[in-house]
Amino acid sequence: MTPRIRLNVKLLLVTMLNLCWPLLSHAQSADSRPNILFVMADDHTSQAWGIYGGILGKYVQNTNIKRMASRGAVLDNCFDVNSLCTPSRATILTGQYSHKNGVYALDDALNPARDNIAKELHKAGYQTAIFGKWGLKKRPSGFDHFMVMNGQGIYFDPVFKSEDNWKDDGQGVTGKKYKGYNTDLVTDFALDWLSNIDPDKPFFAMVHFKGTHEPWEYPDRLKDLYKDVDIPYPPSLFDYGKQTTGRVFDGQPLSDLAGRWMTYQKDPAHYWTTYPGMPFSLDGLDSVEARIKTYEKFIKDYLRCGAANDENLGRLLDYLDQKGLSRNTIIIYTSDQGYFLGEHGFFDKRVMMEEALHMPFVIVYPKEIKGGSRLEDFVLNTDFAALFADYAGIEKPAFIQGKSFRDNLKGNTPPDWRTSMYYRYWEHAPKYPGHFGIRTKKYKLVFYYGQPLGINGASKKTTIPGWEFYNLDIDPQELHNAYHDPRYQGIIRHLKQELLEQKHLVGDDSDKSSAVMQQIFHKHW
Ligand code: CA
Repeated sequence: MTPRIRLNVKLLLVTMLNLCWPLLSHAQSADSRPNILFVMADDHTSQAWGIYGGILGKYVQNTNIKRMASRGAVLDNCFDVNSLCTPSRATILTGQYSHKNGVYALDDALNPARDNIAKELHKAGYQTAIFGKWGLKKRPSGFDHFMVMNGQGIYFDPVFKSEDNWKDDGQGVTGKKYKGYNTDLVTDFALDWLSNIDPDKPFFAMVHFKGTHEPWEYPDRLKDLYKDVDIPYPPSLFDYGKQTTGRVFDGQPLSDLAGRWMTYQKDPAHYWTTYPGMPFSLDGLDSVEARIKTYEKFIKDYLRCGAANDENLGRLLDYLDQKGLSRNTIIIYTSDQGYFLGEHGFFDKRVMMEEALHMPFVIVYPKEIKGGSRLEDFVLNTDFAALFADYAGIEKPAFIQGKSFRDNLKGNTPPDWRTSMYYRYWEHAPKYPGHFGIRTKKYKLVFYYGQPLGINGASKKTTIPGWEFYNLDIDPQELHNAYHDPRYQGIIRHLKQELLEQKHLVGDDSDKSSAVMQQIFHKHW
């Protein structure tokens, strides 16, 4: 070979390499996209996390929640837009309010043909899977693999359905029974999948724990946790009704929970599952003693389930650490909504009060998020899908109503970031009337309209419409409805206007064509 030809071959090689370079770098950048591990508990409310203050801080078992908080950011103002399991899950997947995705209430299904973020991530080359509670009735779409419970599922030896044996909920018994404790099994399934997927492609995994959903059955290994321990109760435990607070709705008092335990004792077949720790009796107790005894059982069972969640969260974190995946994986732990743990004398969720409205949320991503940070910005569950898209490097799909808060997490809150949020609970019942409201940093205004409006599962029994207003600076526990306080009338007028604007902005306009709602607006606005 002559020197001239040798030179040309070299030139040719360099040219070829240059031509190939964009392709090579693209492949490399595709490979380096972060994994997303979204772990969500059921009803695991912020008061029971131990990193949000409150009376339970010293009692909760939260080693791994704290481990995440020290490595990442804790959200102090993350809210659900409809505090109920099924609607919140649909909102997280679609990035839409209930009136947009059609999942208003517990009985609604998510249409598999609808857009969702799992489909988008899958299209973008992510390996996708979901484990544990699904709750959206029809076949999960957008996932390579799923292993989910039939309906709510049970804690011990539950049945799971996968792509191999799927039937929609209500279409007959299907799936396979697995021996063990639900939250442990869900983690097993997730770890098994993670260890068998292509390590050169990113993953998006949703791991949905059953705990801490009622009926709080805990694994045997935790039965002695809190044995002989007195757990403090919230000061508002002895709120026996709306007369003392000016509240306009009844809510779900702890006596209803005790009633379920009593019914269960007499007729276990009445329930789909078993209540732990029976028998339970309130014989001979006055109303205060009965409430304390009910709270004691409730809180211990609940916190034991929370401890099982934390243990399993730790197994997932350990796996990522051991495999060297923690640096390039966004890890989230959250709950589908908040929950009352005896505050106002309640259990359950649904209403726009702080305990049910707040979603506890911690996120770890060492490449971008400073360990031990807190974010005060308002984040909604409509935002999660947008955040996932942002991290995956795909343009925000048009169907998503929420906004990515990736910059906020880096300490750069956009100047136009929201300072108020719109909420609507649709599944009307006399104890939980249908309502919508607005929350700003300082105030909350809620309108309980009390109508079923044709929603699946809503009660036909209407309630008298009423307003609630709270100044959260001076009454953070919402113990006194200040709607009629003369000091606030100007603020309330302004908030009513903003509430209507927000309602319209998110496209919740169906009340305009409802004659009954128009009458209610006319009389009560
Ligand atoms: Ca839930």
